[in-house]
Amino acid sequence: MPRDEHTPHLENIPAYALGALDADNIAALESHLKTCASCQTELAGYRAVSESLLMATPPKQPSAALRKRLQSRLPSAQKSSRPRFVWSFGQLAVGMALVLLLVLNTYSILQMRSLQLAQAQLTRQYKTGQTLISMLSYPTTERLAISADNVVGSLLLDKDRNIVALIVWNMPQLQEDKTYQVWLIDPQGDRVSAGIFRPESGQAYTTQISFPRQSLSNFVGIGVTVEPAGGSDHPTGQRIFKVDF
Ligand SMILES: [Zn+2]
Repeated sequence: MPRDEHTPHLENIPAYALGALDADNIAALESHLKTCASCQTELAGYRAVSESLLMATPPKQPSAALRKRLQSRLPSAQKSSRPRFVWSFGQLAVGMALVLLLVLNTYSILQMRSLQLAQAQLTRQYKTGQTLISMLSYPTTERLAISADNVVGSLLLDKDRNIVALIVWNMPQLQEDKTYQVWLIDPQGDRVSAGIFRPESGQAYTTQISFPRQSLSNFVGIGVTVEPAGGSDHPTGQRIFKVDF
């Protein structure tokens, strides 16, 4: 079919899809659609868009006052019969462009949030790495082996600067409502919490650095247990490993 035969119909399809086409043009378009596959495809595309736009926001019940005001503006409520308002193609195009911009904008904001989260995670990993390097290069840092079943790794003990770091491989995955908790053990066997942590996803090893409030020289060992999310006052769950200083 030559292009000029489609053109007037193509222009009317967006308004038709939104139910905003006037009666005369509806009849002409519908008879053209019966014989034209490409215009049918065009219409199906616009219908999909207008339907997803309608689904995008849940319908809301207007307040009684707003409802009354809106009803008074409906053509049936007006005394004189004014010409029915029909969106021109230009108005429709601008409206659709605005909706598209809104969708793209929302998408960008969501993407930016996930980038910010990723950046915060990278910053955390970078700082942890820097602290570990500084500990390893400090002359009096002690390194003790961690070994319990499948869990292996190193405990770094920097008594001068009062920092303790765990680098542990193969920590078992935790349920959502659980956390690992680090305990410093004093000579009487009492436990003092030294922080909680979860294994980083997508990483075979886990690092946890603690800066205890009390001097490390007050303690004789360290242990890690599984505790409810948020941690406990005293160890209550399964012990994963324990290392004596
Ligand atoms: Zn056509």
